[in-house]
Amino acid sequence: MKCPYCGSESVEAVKSWEMPRMGYRVTHYRCKNCGGLFNHYVGRGKSSC
Ligand SMILES: [Zn+2]
Repeated sequence: MKCPYCGSESVEAVKSWEMPRMGYRVTHYRCKNCGGLFNHYVGRGKSSC
């Protein structure tokens, strides 16, 4: 996983949760380098930052 802000791979998962109705799982990450927060969505062939 890369930070979308600074490109660092030094990120940590803060938490994750399921969204069964939408069919995907969301993971909330925090970048250790710049402190940026972002979500990663996985599921049903869709994947985006
Ligand atoms: Zn960053």
